[in-house]
Amino acid sequence: MIYLDYAADTPVDVQVLDLFCQINQVAFGNANGTHLSGKNAKQLIKQATIKIKNLLNCSTSEVIYTSGATEANNLAIKGVARNYREVGRHIISTCLEHASVSGSLKQLQSIGYEIDLVSIRKDGTVDLDHLNELIREDTILVSINYVDSELGICQPIPSIATIVAAYPNCFFHVDATQAVGKIPIHLDQIDLVTFSPHKFFGLNGMGVLLKSESLILEPQIHGGTSTSYYRSGTPFTAGAGATALALELCMAELKERLTQVTVKNDWLKKQLSAYPLVAFNSTGHAIPHILNLSVKGVKAQAFQAALSDRKVCISIKSACSTDSTPSRSVLTVTGSRDLARSSWRISLCHLTTDSELQEFMDIFDYCYKSLTKK
Ligand code: PMP
Repeated sequence: MIYLDYAADTPVDVQVLDLFCQINQVAFGNANGTHLSGKNAKQLIKQATIKIKNLLNCSTSEVIYTSGATEANNLAIKGVARNYREVGRHIISTCLEHASVSGSLKQLQSIGYEIDLVSIRKDGTVDLDHLNELIREDTILVSINYVDSELGICQPIPSIATIVAAYPNCFFHVDATQAVGKIPIHLDQIDLVTFSPHKFFGLNGMGVLLKSESLILEPQIHGGTSTSYYRSGTPFTAGAGATALALELCMAELKERLTQVTVKNDWLKKQLSAYPLVAFNSTGHAIPHILNLSVKGVKAQAFQAALSDRKVCISIKSACSTDSTPSRSVLTVTGSRDLARSSWRISLCHLTTDSELQEFMDIFDYCYKSLTKK
C-alpha cells in the first residue's frame, strides 16, 4: 500500500502508544474522583496541560480536551454564539472551512444568526479588505482555519488577528488542525484554537480546544462536573498525556520535517507537471504537506478508484466530506467547476519515502494514460 493521505490521519508514534498504555495501567483512576487514584490522574492531566501550553506558547489559555477537532470546533463556535447572543449574532467565516465549522455555522444560521463568508483571493488567502468591510460592532466571532484541509492554504492569521482585535466584542477562533505539528504557528491575539493529535502521530478520538481565560463558552455537553467546566464526562487521562507527548515529538523536529516534506512536494510537483492535463489547485500559499490537483476531464472519483485498485490511498476533498458534489474549496479558489469536479488530494509527511513517491508516479502514469485516452 502507498499511503498518501496523512492530512486525514497519521500512524500513532510508538513512543506515544507506549505512554498511552503506561498511563492506562498506572493512572486509570477517574480524574474527577477525590481519592488518591483520582488525584494522580488529575495531576497527569495537569502536567500534560502545562506541556501543551509551553509547547504552543500560550500560557494564558485554558486547555479543553474533547473527542476530536470536530467537537472542539462545535464547542468553540456554538459556545461563543450562545453565550454572547445578547451582544450580537453576526459571525464571519470562509468557505474553505472544515465541515465541523461550516456545519456548526449552518446550524446557527437556522436559528437566526447571521453568517457572512469573507471572499477568498485567487491565491487562496482571505481578502483582508473584505474582512474589514464585513466586521462590525455586533460581530461576535470570526472563525477562520490556519490551513485548510483540501488545498492546504495557509492563511495570514496574524493579520486577521489584528483586524479582529480592533473589535472588543469579537472573538477570533482558528481551526489549526492542519497546522499544529506541521508548521510554525503564531497564536497571539487568538481567543480559541482547535487541533487534533491524530494529525500529528497522536491518538485518534481526541481533540483540543485552547481558550483564552477571559472568554466564556456555553458548554455543549451537559451533566456532571469535570476537570473542565466546559466538558463534562470522565477525563481521558491517557489521551491528554499522549497528546502532550505527540506534540512534543513533532515540535522537536518541526523544522527538519518541514524541510523534508518540502523536498518531497517539490519533486512530486515537478514529476506531475510533465502531464499536460494536470492542474495544481493548491497555490503558492499551500503548506508542502498538501497537494491538491486535477487531471482535467477525469472525475476525481474515477481517478481515486483507479489509484485505489492499485493500493494507492489519496482522498477526494477531505475524509469528512466525501460526497460526490464538486469541491467547494477548489471551485472558490480556481473558479472552475471542471477543476472542482476532478480535484483530489495527495498529503505527505516526513515518513513518505522516495521509493513510495516513485512507485506512486509509475501508477499515476498508468492511470493517467488509461483514463485520458480518447
Ligand atoms: N478541522 C480540520 C481542518 C480537519 O482537517 C479535520 C480532520 N479532517 C477536522 C477539523 C476534524 O478533526 P477530527 O477528526 O479530530 O474530528
